[in-house]
Amino acid sequence: MLCDRAKNYLIKNMKLSAKVAVITGGGSGIGRAAAILMAKEGAKVAIINRTVEAGEETVRQLVDEGGCGLAIAADVADSQQMQQAFQTIFDEYQRIDIVLANAGINGVWSPIEEIEPEEWDRTINTNLRGTFLTVKYAVPYLKKQGGSIVITSSINGTRSFRKIGATAYASSKAAQVALAKMLALELAPSQIRVNVICPGGVLTAIEESTTKRHLDRIPVAPDAIQDMIPLTDNTAGSTEEVAQLVLFLVSDASSFITGTEVWIDGGGSLI
Ligand code: NAP
Repeated sequence: MLCDRAKNYLIKNMKLSAKVAVITGGGSGIGRAAAILMAKEGAKVAIINRTVEAGEETVRQLVDEGGCGLAIAADVADSQQMQQAFQTIFDEYQRIDIVLANAGINGVWSPIEEIEPEEWDRTINTNLRGTFLTVKYAVPYLKKQGGSIVITSSINGTRSFRKIGATAYASSKAAQVALAKMLALELAPSQIRVNVICPGGVLTAIEESTTKRHLDRIPVAPDAIQDMIPLTDNTAGSTEEVAQLVLFLVSDASSFITGTEVWIDGGGSLI
């Protein structure tokens, strides 16, 4: 049992105490790990996820760790659902300080002639429009006191272009960086920081959202282009490692950092 003085000391030294954090795609992978870590650091955490059961499971896990959270079902690409989601979170917690725009899919990876326009739209709508809507509906609340936005992009489209066929995905991830830099300037006077994380090679369920079609028809044989992670002798990174980066970027430890990407990939995208 912790005595009251020790408990007070721990709460005082939590990096996010009294903050409210919203995480899209928090029902799995990077979003779930970030949610649990932010809750351990004292934030109240709201998860926005398409599948509500997955979001509720994250909340169950962070409550088990002593945290506090709320799960909301919404499709990040749906304007009305997102506006309503932020209203619900604000009504519940009376503030929003932190946003991790993280929900994303790999979508269809295929030769350009075979990517259907609807398939292109689905990837762009989830990854880019979803990020736009997340930030758009968060900003009025963030402006009340300032805050921090982190956008989950990727090494693909920002520093690595070897996932041939992942054209829509890489384009969406590149555009997220431009969006972040534009908003870092626009929102700086409101004391809102906007940064981007660019992971590569992290073990999650993202492969389940990938459809690979006829990649063997692309003359630059994709299988010949191996993913390498020099720092770990090709062992994938963990979601907890990415969560530590998110924590740094949403906490006061990074108070002078805005408008920048941080690659987190064991050096893989340098090859
Ligand atoms: P993940 O485990 O598949 O998590 C993605 C989450 O996003 C899921 O909970 C999913 O919920 C949610 N989601 C997808 N579409 C949604 C929508 N339209 N509305 C609301 N929620 C939605 O994958 P992850 O690897 O953690 O991916 C998180 C982010 O990291 C993505 O933006 C991804 O591009 C990026 N990333 C990952 C890696 C990697 O190596 N894993 C590398 C670079 C970038 P449902 O299951 O309900 O759809």
